[in-house]
Amino acid sequence: MESELIRSIALRYHEVGDRIFQAAERAGRDADEITLVAVTKTWPADVVSAAYHAGIRHVGENRAEEMARKRSEVAELLPDVDDLTWHQIGTLQSRKTSLVAEHADLFHALDRMKIAQRLAQQLNELERSLPVLLEVNISGEISKSGFLANNWEEDTTQRENLRNVIETIMHLPGLDLQGMMTIAPWDAAEETIRSIFRRTRSLAEWMQSKVPQATLTQLSMGMSDDFEIAVEEGATIVRVGRAIFGSRHQV
Ligand SMILES: *Cc1c(COP(=O)(O)O)cnc(C)c1O
Repeated sequence: MESELIRSIALRYHEVGDRIFQAAERAGRDADEITLVAVTKTWPADVVSAAYHAGIRHVGENRAEEMARKRSEVAELLPDVDDLTWHQIGTLQSRKTSLVAEHADLFHALDRMKIAQRLAQQLNELERSLPVLLEVNISGEISKSGFLANNWEEDTTQRENLRNVIETIMHLPGLDLQGMMTIAPWDAAEETIRSIFRRTRSLAEWMQSKVPQATLTQLSMGMSDDFEIAVEEGATIVRVGRAIFGSRHQV
């Protein structure tokens, strides 16, 4: 039963890996530079443990409490394991920042300065450094979080704001800014989704050229329905849940 679970996760994980490989080939990229984060949100610790046995080494959670709790449960199930990386992929409420400061290995969804400041202070107290990605809202949908960048190509003020944000975050203690993250619209046409990813990548490249001391090399983009488009457009991290684990576990 347990090994049946491991086998079915491994099968789908490898299918997703093959699709990433093929998308990378189409774009003339090396698939080795792309990290597949398996999104385990809603799934219990024993599923994460099975995922580890299936070869998965990067897991993602969108709720900070769930990540912190599950991480300690998984540590009990897999006591000798120290090569499982936990990604906090969802945005944070400011009163939850300490969970991420303490328990996350990489935070994808830094979407406002208040969160950056609180994390920096808490990381400093913990004497910890946390890799972070700036979440950017490229589509302009009001339901989306992230620093607004829906018109960055035309709007100088928007660009200057983002540049200030990057320069400020770079100088905060504990925060190790490594790139950007975005989420495409749910049910848009492929060309729309593609242009969101493409514009995120050019924004990161533009900011990198303006702030050469920054390191904006990571691009976290793409989920179950659009990760191949994201890989074609330059994603270095994809966040895939349903395509590996099936539809969300009922809680
Ligand atoms: C849930 C989630 C994902 C994964 O979504 P799937 O559609 O299950 O692949 C990726 N990114 C974020 C921020 C999420 O919350």
